[in-house]
Amino acid sequence: MTAAPAARPRAAATSLDALADLLAEGDVVVLSGAGLSTDSGIPDYRGETGSLRRHTPMTYQTFTRDPRGRHRYWARSFVGWRQIRSARPNPGHRAVADLQAAGLIGGVITQNVDGLHQAGGATDVVELHGGLDRTVCLSCGDVASRADLDERLTAANPFFGARTDEINPDGDAELPDEVLDGFVMVGCLACGDGPLKPDVVFFGETVPRDRVERCFGLIEDAAGLLVLGSSLTVMSGYRFVLRAAKLGIPVAIVNVGPTRGDAKADVRVDAPLGEVLPSLAASLG
Ligand SMILES: [Zn+2]
Repeated sequence: MTAAPAARPRAAATSLDALADLLAEGDVVVLSGAGLSTDSGIPDYRGETGSLRRHTPMTYQTFTRDPRGRHRYWARSFVGWRQIRSARPNPGHRAVADLQAAGLIGGVITQNVDGLHQAGGATDVVELHGGLDRTVCLSCGDVASRADLDERLTAANPFFGARTDEINPDGDAELPDEVLDGFVMVGCLACGDGPLKPDVVFFGETVPRDRVERCFGLIEDAAGLLVLGSSLTVMSGYRFVLRAAKLGIPVAIVNVGPTRGDAKADVRVDAPLGEVLPSLAASLG
């Protein structure tokens, strides 16, 4: 008996023309990741200089079970949020909004928690992993504004200062122990003193089921799926590529470097989003 030849991955088209053809059909859903926000000064966890290489992100388990870990998270986050808050949408975000306004892109699913799609003018954005502009109380579930929390933290920490330490994409910063321990945290205003969590999905936490179903619904109604700036390392995003491929919906991926979804892609462009997206918007928008 001879072994069956190994299945070879489909050869994906690699040209900008192929990408433009897919978008020109309209009803394309975008799935975006950290690579779209690096041009806005928000570093990528997993890219070339990804901070995962030297920084372990906060897990849901540590955050909810370890009050000291939570305290330190908020101290770092108090500093890091200044950079996130001052970040502005880049030409890639604006091109997505332009293509959406032109009717070529429908919904946007983003793994980013920086709010830059919305700031760049996009609508129908599902924040798969939540957003840093809100907090949620672990006791009573109250959702509140991060900007309001920042005012309270600034009042409670007058000497903490505007540090410029290294920032991670979930909005925290590296700080020495003695600085972390001197930080004063405040609690939920709705219930009195409940511990606050940024309204984002941490590592080790599950994306709420209704949010996932909403995204599957977007994919199932789409004529195509366009992945922007994600290596698709985590299943929470990769599952949408799997669903699209299973349904025969064309998948295009634009990312610098390989992604987990490359074998599923019909179009695969390995080039900077800051070049590809404005060029697409100019030719199609
Ligand atoms: Zn509360």
